[in-house]
Amino acid sequence: MSRLNSFYLPPDQWNGPEESVFLEGPEARHLLQVLRTPVGSEVRLFDGQGRDGLFELTEAQRKRALLTPRRVTHHEPPIAGLTLALGWNKATRRGWLLEKSVELRAGGLAFWRARFSQGTPPPVKPSWEEKLVQAAKQCGNPWLPSLHSLSGLEQVVRLGANYDRCFLLWESTDAQELLRPSMLAVGRSLAVVGPEGGMAPEEVSILLNADFVPVSLGASILRWETAALHCLSLAHYGSTRAQS
Ligand code: SAM
Repeated sequence: MSRLNSFYLPPDQWNGPEESVFLEGPEARHLLQVLRTPVGSEVRLFDGQGRDGLFELTEAQRKRALLTPRRVTHHEPPIAGLTLALGWNKATRRGWLLEKSVELRAGGLAFWRARFSQGTPPPVKPSWEEKLVQAAKQCGNPWLPSLHSLSGLEQVVRLGANYDRCFLLWESTDAQELLRPSMLAVGRSLAVVGPEGGMAPEEVSILLNADFVPVSLGASILRWETAALHCLSLAHYGSTRAQS
């Protein structure tokens, strides 16, 4: 059976389980004008917060579509979720990493201003959220990672209080322990990744003093995006194994 086309409807625009909804804006344009979906067709709607459903296109207006629910599902929250606290870098590969974070079912991404960052992270951009939505349409993940823009390391440490375990991805040979999937398999984890310029010594001390566990990704010094992707893959493998 061919896969259903998916469309994002923000959580606050859903009605009761039997009530029709209107899809408007770019998502409606894609459904009606780009895909020219015929009335009577079935599509998938998702809200990015674990709810999705099978809907029938019951009316196609010029700028909006009326969709009637046939079956709505509330997915259990994932048993694990890795949030990466990424030292801010120039834009290279950020969009790509946003996409990978959805495919690999990350819990979230937090951008923070490190000592060796180039520039300061702006407030979370709608274009970042759009990247997450497009990736979720493609891969079917019903949960969108949370996005955070943090001014500095102090906020990262404060964010860490919300997690079951916190790690510092440290490329120094002092970090003896290898990050393993089993460490990320259950519960909420936060892992700090330095910017391209690396972590300043005082940043390492602050995190170690805040009980962030220093872990290694092996002998190679990985690029920012490689280290991030590797952590996401380890976490995805670990939680998938734990659920099987
Ligand atoms: N200090 C690095 C150098 O000498 O080129 C630059 C930092 S590296 C490009 C970016 C970040 O990725 C690091 O701060 C660290 O958080 C993470 N990272 C890279 N390789 C790693 C490794 N082998 N083990 C743990 N973390 C690593």
